[in-house]
Amino acid sequence: MQDHPIDPDNVNIYRQLPGIDALLLEMSPEIETWGREAVTHCLRGLIADLRAALANDPSSDCSAATIRQRASRALAAADAPSLVPVINLTGTVLHTNLGRAILPEAALEAMSMVAASASNLEFDLDRGTRGDRESHVEGLICELTGAQAATVVNNNAAAVLLVLNTLALGREVPVSRGELVEIGGSFRIPDVMQRSGCTLVETGATNRTHLKDYRDAINEHTALLMKVHTSNYRVQGFTRSVEESELAQLADEHDLPLVVDLGSGNLVDFTALGLPEERTVSQVLADGADVVTFSGDKLLGGPQAGLIAGRADLIEAIRSNPLKRALRLDKMTLAALAETLKLYRDPARLVQRLPTLRLLTRETGDIRAQAEQLQPVVQASLGDGFTVSVADCQSQIGSGSLPVETLPSAALCVTPCSGEDTDLRNLQDALRQLPVPVIGRLHRQALWLDLRCLEATQQGQLVAQLQALAP
Ligand SMILES: *Cc1c(COP(=O)(O)O)cnc(C)c1O
Repeated sequence: MQDHPIDPDNVNIYRQLPGIDALLLEMSPEIETWGREAVTHCLRGLIADLRAALANDPSSDCSAATIRQRASRALAAADAPSLVPVINLTGTVLHTNLGRAILPEAALEAMSMVAASASNLEFDLDRGTRGDRESHVEGLICELTGAQAATVVNNNAAAVLLVLNTLALGREVPVSRGELVEIGGSFRIPDVMQRSGCTLVETGATNRTHLKDYRDAINEHTALLMKVHTSNYRVQGFTRSVEESELAQLADEHDLPLVVDLGSGNLVDFTALGLPEERTVSQVLADGADVVTFSGDKLLGGPQAGLIAGRADLIEAIRSNPLKRALRLDKMTLAALAETLKLYRDPARLVQRLPTLRLLTRETGDIRAQAEQLQPVVQASLGDGFTVSVADCQSQIGSGSLPVETLPSAALCVTPCSGEDTDLRNLQDALRQLPVPVIGRLHRQALWLDLRCLEATQQGQLVAQLQALAP
């Protein structure tokens, strides 16, 4: 009552406010859906707001019907999920902000099955004894990469942290100056090295690092040699970096392990799929890397995870690090990862079954045909204010995989007839506010909707929503 200064002449204005109990009497559907406590809490908040409003403007609408309607809307809004599916028309297939890889069907089924029931996560069904949660994926990783052993953690950043903390704590690690990368705001190789407890020894120059530079950096404090995939940029021009095979030989001469942070974790020959060349985990291991770290949700096309594959003795040491427990994978991720990896056993059907590769390998002609089919529909929905045309564009692989190479694609290119940027921004906002938000890309005074990632189900959703948007 005393929250707001009250004019004594006006004290009666609050009398028109309905009581909470009276309001509740007519809110059975809301109580049924969200519970009496939540509805009461919401009404209290609205009444408090109305008191403040009445103090300023005694004629504010505070009828019971209005309050109930507001409460109903507020309860629904508060209950709506915050994390929702979107339609990714950005042209970036593995978009970190949009959740990276889309999981294959088999992984989705495995996740929900293991989540809905007790499972043999850490239970050996043959022996009836305690089991190892990694047994569900380790064999698969070894089979597909040729590694002796493997372990898994929460993401590749965690993999790098754990490997360095295990193998190089309190010692030195030479890394080429050309490979001191930042991947997204918070993952910088120098910072991760520092937090993992080892000392970075910057080696060579930004554009050129020679084998001799590594040789000069090695001393009795050196723990290992490390090579980092320059995922999200490329040093071009007068450049030189040292191949894994050369580095492996040098590491061997000094009895040091060679660790390669590969980032993407590609498991198949990309050129055979018509994609830009990207070395596979098996190739890097065959070239002499002792430990390779890579992500589960980049080119591999699975759930967020960090995979560590390599020499059995080193993997055993990594697995025994007490930090491992803090970084371990949960059962749903393990289930999804196992099913994703199994798809690689059947290369002939892999591209069809694994959404990441399916989207990356879509024929430009197909995408263009889809764009031509959609163009009149989208034009009709957007009305006279915009021109929708079919245009060639370039998709990106994303997530720091193959930063320079792009894939030819087709887009709906939307320009405002007014030529006004505000009209374009308003359209972009409207598309983002749709029930299944549509995310495009502003580029050269146009909104580009790259159709590479628009598969059949989402195309249906897009069309239905756009018709609702029609002016
Ligand atoms: C992406 C990437 C990382 C980080 O991997 P996350 O799975 O995102 O944690 C680390 N190193 C390299 C080289 C990468 O490309």
